[in-house]
Amino acid sequence: MQNKSIAQLAADLRLRTYSSVELTKHYLERIARLDPRLNSFVTVAADSALVAAERADQMLKSGEAGPLTGIPIAHKDIFCTQGIKTSCGSRMLDNFVAPYDATVVEKLAAAGAVVLGKTNMDEFAMGSSNETSFYGPVKNPWDETKVPGGSSGGSAAAVAARLCAVATGTDTGGSIRQPAALCGITGIKPTYGRCSRWGMIAFASSLDQAGVMARSAADAAFLLDEMAGFDSRDSTSANVPVPDYVDALDDGIKGLKIGLPKEYFGDGLDSRVAAVIQDAIKEYERLGAEIVEISLPNSPLSVPVYYVVAPAECSSNLARFDGVRYGHRCENPEDLEDLYKRSRAEGFGAEVQRRIMIGAYVLSAGYYDAYYLKAQKIRHLIADDFKRAFEQVDVIMGPTSPTTAFPIGDKMDDPVSMYLNDIYTIATNLAGLPGMSIPVAPVDGMPVGLQIIGNYFDEARLLNVAHQFQHATHWHQAAPAGFE
Ligand code: GLN
Repeated sequence: MQNKSIAQLAADLRLRTYSSVELTKHYLERIARLDPRLNSFVTVAADSALVAAERADQMLKSGEAGPLTGIPIAHKDIFCTQGIKTSCGSRMLDNFVAPYDATVVEKLAAAGAVVLGKTNMDEFAMGSSNETSFYGPVKNPWDETKVPGGSSGGSAAAVAARLCAVATGTDTGGSIRQPAALCGITGIKPTYGRCSRWGMIAFASSLDQAGVMARSAADAAFLLDEMAGFDSRDSTSANVPVPDYVDALDDGIKGLKIGLPKEYFGDGLDSRVAAVIQDAIKEYERLGAEIVEISLPNSPLSVPVYYVVAPAECSSNLARFDGVRYGHRCENPEDLEDLYKRSRAEGFGAEVQRRIMIGAYVLSAGYYDAYYLKAQKIRHLIADDFKRAFEQVDVIMGPTSPTTAFPIGDKMDDPVSMYLNDIYTIATNLAGLPGMSIPVAPVDGMPVGLQIIGNYFDEARLLNVAHQFQHATHWHQAAPAGFE
């Protein structure tokens, strides 16, 4: 059952080949047996999952079911879930049970999806390896000595290991696409504002975007169909009509213009990764696409710009965690200042503290113009590069990540080398554009992701372009040994 697509599962559920309760129990059994090796779940919500599965079976019986009714999913632990702990990977929120559901959670529940649990992640979504989680690192199911990527590493590992049919993730600088690449799955970060941020714990509000981690573009389309859309509770939610993503999957791609930015194929890219990315692009040519060389001249500035903008926004967003209203509170504070200081020092890990300090620094009176304002100006130049590129091409392709998954512990003492993991993904967030990662041929048995970047609100085309590749190839079907 765990290898079936959402379309197949939905068809089986409708025919009563098995019930949603049986399917849910199957996944819960896999999680209990296999997840101790991976640590991809922070919380398994077996009881509420079975209640939801029973409700889904009722919906299936009474003919009110949609394609997601009864399908077992997992949420990244950054989405607030009423009655189930929402930790955001942090000691700060280890005791936090949200009094409401995030919009994305609410919409998927209304569609009848069954939530198996909450997945592990880098603390407050800050990281590229899942090693900053308070709950310990997640292991990559393709090689348990390696990282799954981050920050949505728990969702990526869980989907790759077939511990859920599909999962949610969030992407501020690459956190859906990079772990999707490192775990050999399909991830889509929609246009900024496409999916509601309401109830999604904020990291860098002008960059954060919810999306999907799935085994195929077709599976991702089913989820995005339900998740996307305007939400009046999120002031940056886009009021743009949502097309039917599943409908668009089968469109032809003959004549598709693919831009290859020369900056994405330069120094720093592993040559074996480059070779399998080039092979994937040749496959697109065979499918009728046309290749155009392009340039995104400001893209080398995206990592430094991001590490000013994202910490600035995080230092403001994380000010709410003060030990007073909710979250971790230190023991026996002497006075209010001591309460703030010790609650935050104990509740936040090293990477989060580093970002808060950088953020407070770049926003401070003497440095605001030199760092924050300058970064915002360069952010515009980066977005303009893409604007020019999309006058010539339909989509942009390149590697998602410069290397395959690296060993756990390898980069934890070197934040800059960790930050460089996102060199190809961050510009997309700075511009607010949608991006995807799909698996191509592996290197030394480890997955590699092809990144596909689209114009604003062009998710249907991204999913279509990804689906056509997956229709012609089999890379997305590979399962890690021991998790088939
Ligand atoms: N790896 C990047 C960071 O550490 C991006 C994280 C994300 O997209 N949430 O900030």
